[in-house]
Parts: sequence; C-alpha cells; structure tokens
Amino acid sequence: IGRGHYIGRFAPSPTGPLHAGSLVAALASWLDARAHGGRWLLRIEDVDTPRCVPGADRLIVQQLARCGLMPDAPPLWQSSRAAAYQTALEQLIDSGLAYPCACSRQDIAQAQAAAGITRQRGRELPYPGTCRPERGGLHGRAARAWRLHTERFEKKWLVAPAHQARAAINDEASGAIHWHDRRLGAQRQQLSREVGDFVLKRADGLWAYQLAVVVDDAAQGITDVVRGEDLADNTPRQIALQAALGLPTPRYLHTPLVLGADGEKLSKQNGARALDLSEPARALRAAARHLELDSNPDESSVEALLAHWVVAWQARLTA
Ligand code: GLU
Repeated sequence: IGRGHYIGRFAPSPTGPLHAGSLVAALASWLDARAHGGRWLLRIEDVDTPRCVPGADRLIVQQLARCGLMPDAPPLWQSSRAAAYQTALEQLIDSGLAYPCACSRQDIAQAQAAAGITRQRGRELPYPGTCRPERGGLHGRAARAWRLHTERFEKKWLVAPAHQARAAINDEASGAIHWHDRRLGAQRQQLSREVGDFVLKRADGLWAYQLAVVVDDAAQGITDVVRGEDLADNTPRQIALQAALGLPTPRYLHTPLVLGADGEKLSKQNGARALDLSEPARALRAAARHLELDSNPDESSVEALLAHWVVAWQARLTA
C-alpha cells in the first residue's frame, strides 16, 4: 500500500480485561498494521498505578492472543519508563515550556470562580494559570505537579516546524493546532483556550498519560496511531509535546466508540463485560461489524477471519 515503513500499536491501560470496546481499537490497529505490511506493537500503559488491576496486563495479552492478535515484539510496560519520562520533562523545563504548580483542586476551583470561569459541561476547565512563572510562580508554596505552558508553546510554535509534515501548527492568528484524522478529517484545537496548561507529572508523583504516550510512541517508532475516538481530543496535546520535544508526529486514526446501554462510552461502569474467551471468533465478528467490515464472511477460524478483514481493510485504504 505504498508506504514502506509502518509501525502501529495497541496501548491498553491494564485497569481490567479487554471488553468489546477495547477489542475494536485493538482489531483496527492490528488490521491497519497488517494491511500496510507493517509491524504491530503492544504497550501496557500502567502509569496510573492506582487504577491498574494486578494481572490485567497478562490477561489482556492472553485475550489478544486468543483473538489472533499477536504483537511483533515483547510488550513495553510504561512502569519501566520513568527515566525516559524524566528526561523529557527536563527537556521541557530547559526550554521554558514546563513549570511547577502548587495548586490543589480546591485552589484551582477558587481561582476559577474568582476569575468568573464557569463550568463547561463535560469538559474540565482550563487551569487558571496561577503558578505560571510570569505570575509569580509557586508563591512560596511547595511544587506538586508540572504543567505545560500552553501559551508559551503556541507563541514559540506558531509556524509548523520542518519535521512536521502532517500536523501543522499553522494558524498564525490563534495559535490553534491543526491536525488531520484519517476518519474524522480536519481537526483543530487551541490548547491555551480549550484545554489550558495540562499536567505532565501529577501531584501524586505519577506521570501523566499525555507525556508518557508521546515519549513512548516516539521510542517505539510508531508511525500510525489507531485508537478509540474518546482519545481524539487528546491528540493536539500530544502533537504539541511532540513538537516541543522534537519528536515526529504519527498519523492518527480514531475508531468509532462502542456505546453502553446509557449511550456513554462502554466501560466497566455501564456494563462492559470481559470478552468471552471461549468464543474469540464471535467477539471478533462483533468488533469487525463495528468497524463496518463484513462480520459474516464464510471463514470461521480466527486466522481466516482476520485474513479476510486484512484484505477488506486494504481495499478500503486504496479506495
Ligand atoms: N492507554 C489508553 C487507554 O487505554 C490508550 C492510549 C492510546 O491509545 O493512546 O485508554
């Protein structure tokens, strides 16, 4: 399919076994890698240790294997990557883009209320910038977290850096990040206004998903990220960090979400059950249907089903 080099990945958080929703993302990323003749890697995103369930990582690996989805290299565990995240944070500090923050949740809520910033439904409010260095920094308080200075980032990166072929930060007027999703099309987001100075290292000492995912996508040489649509609006934060760290930006494809009975993203809270390992073909068919692939081909073995869908996926790529 005309692209010499492809490395994809599936990056589950081991907060429980795979369910119907996570299998869709796994299958899509695997199919996209195979359809491109590329490699497919697995990364266990276990940075948020309080949410991790012991043994869930091994269970996920087993579930994927039952579904015929075998990574081309041993999985990477984010819990082993602290040194790399620390190096990245220091790089951001050195370039003046990361600053320490002493605010508690309560401090932030008070500052927002004082500034007249009101709740936006379904969205976390932007950090009010209390600890920005130009506003006096920590004000003598102890540092809790590290944040990215999104306004400084936007000022510094208004023009697309040369290494960024696809995701150009090219809106001179607003500093919005423009990016392309292979399914959703053209996207844009202005971090300073819509997201705010997001956390890189949390007050509890844990590494934030945004930093870890960017460092590891680069370390694993990922060229194509295929994942659930719930993560689409994290992408500009990740593109910003890639630019700030001098890392390449992969291509992005966000797959349709599987919704629970309540119309929300499928999760353990709204009825997601672990996949039935006794019938992997059935689980795969349901995932394939969700990706608008033929869920009832003549083939019945897991391997034959997957091969059938790789061909269909290739046809879609060239269509
Ligand atoms: N670990 C994240 C999750 O399970 C996915 C990260 C990603 O694909 O970028 O929701």
